[in-house]
Amino acid sequence: MPKVHVRTYGCQMNERDSEQVVRMFIEGGYTVTADEAEADAILINTCSVRDQAEQKALGKMGLLAVHRRHRPHVVYGFMGCMAQSRGEELLARFPHLDLVLGTQKYHKAFDYVDAILNRRLEARMDDPALSLKGGTVCDIAEEEGSQNTIRDHLPKALQATAFVSIMQGCNMRCTFCIVPDTRGRERGRPIREIIGEVRQLAALGVREVTLLGQIVNLYGRNEFPRLDGKSPFVQLLEAVHEVEGIERIRFTSPHPIGYRADLIRAFTYLPKLCSHIHFPMQSGSDRILEAMRRPYKSAKFIAICEAMQAARTDLAITTDVIVGFPGETEEDFQASVAAVERLQFDNAFVFRYSPRRDTPAAGMAGQLSESVKELRNQAMLEVVNRLAIAKNQAQVGTRQQVLCEGPSKTNSARLTGRTSQNKIVVFEGDAARLTGRLVDLHIDHTTGFTLYGTLV
Ligand code: SF4
Repeated sequence: MPKVHVRTYGCQMNERDSEQVVRMFIEGGYTVTADEAEADAILINTCSVRDQAEQKALGKMGLLAVHRRHRPHVVYGFMGCMAQSRGEELLARFPHLDLVLGTQKYHKAFDYVDAILNRRLEARMDDPALSLKGGTVCDIAEEEGSQNTIRDHLPKALQATAFVSIMQGCNMRCTFCIVPDTRGRERGRPIREIIGEVRQLAALGVREVTLLGQIVNLYGRNEFPRLDGKSPFVQLLEAVHEVEGIERIRFTSPHPIGYRADLIRAFTYLPKLCSHIHFPMQSGSDRILEAMRRPYKSAKFIAICEAMQAARTDLAITTDVIVGFPGETEEDFQASVAAVERLQFDNAFVFRYSPRRDTPAAGMAGQLSESVKELRNQAMLEVVNRLAIAKNQAQVGTRQQVLCEGPSKTNSARLTGRTSQNKIVVFEGDAARLTGRLVDLHIDHTTGFTLYGTLV
């Protein structure tokens, strides 16, 4: 039985896409291996949003060539955003690479790999020298309906939580972001298909779903009508809420554009919606927001957060902030710090701006030095960490409902789960009995970023 190794560098959406690919290989009779040295096919799925993920993936692909020496039939492939943006260039850079698959072609990964592998194995029987010749594939074309192909999950024992991809692409053109080029235009899946997938997950024991989209709250705006003043996204939330067995709903990531009263109101009448949103702010300076081509003012972002906090009083908000964007003055940076302080985020991913090729911001005047960017990065991290630690300390002594996700990755003798506010809690208990169950915990202490509790 051939073996496939799939490695993912990037975001939750990439993780979800990889899961779909792995599922197709299992259906095709392959087994999955975590050991590259024994794999017959090695696929790397990579995000391009951050330079770090790209560099890691490129470095890894270079190192993996070593397996060809002993196993000349191994098929190598790149998938995802970086494959989409770099295309043929990757084939020229890595002579051992066989396959480059764009973001609308995940569903073809199995067919391509299997065909190359079979051809190679057959050829090898006659002449080993033939095994390495020709047959490379670069498929990065658009494909209508590709958003509907990310829909199958891996059957896992005791899985509490799952990602559900509800759309692909983005119509915004933030000047720092490469996603509109790599993921294409917004395309939503039909509600009934998404609900079918959520029902299947519930039947497998999944209790929490996280709906994924580049701008998740704009789901379906071009395909489906508003009904009773509700956006297609709110209609979808209501439909997922109806699914028996699903006890928690999350979504990521929303954008201030299209974050309207109907979505805010949904948090008052849909109790399965978790008390957490990850809501990217990017900057607290209107001048920088404009340069980023983020079509909202800081005041608007703050107003949405405050309306959300009023709708759900225990709401946790986390965010993304970019520091050191081209042209960012000390005053602009301080505006971001002030917004973070005012909104008291529960946590934030702080990104030190790094130019991404083929994006407008990469060519903007006013690029800042690495030392200035690093100073601002450290200063912002200090603020963010102080707020996060204080928020976690405030949880000590409280009782929280946690969805048990199973043994902790860092200490398998303990269990882990998340509160509705998405805070990780470690506790002791019986994995077989508690995984996938909502349990009440007393929060005993915190190390700053992780909470520790005991079953009540
Ligand atoms: S909203 Fe902006 S940052 Fe988000 S995916 Fe679209 S272009 Fe990129």
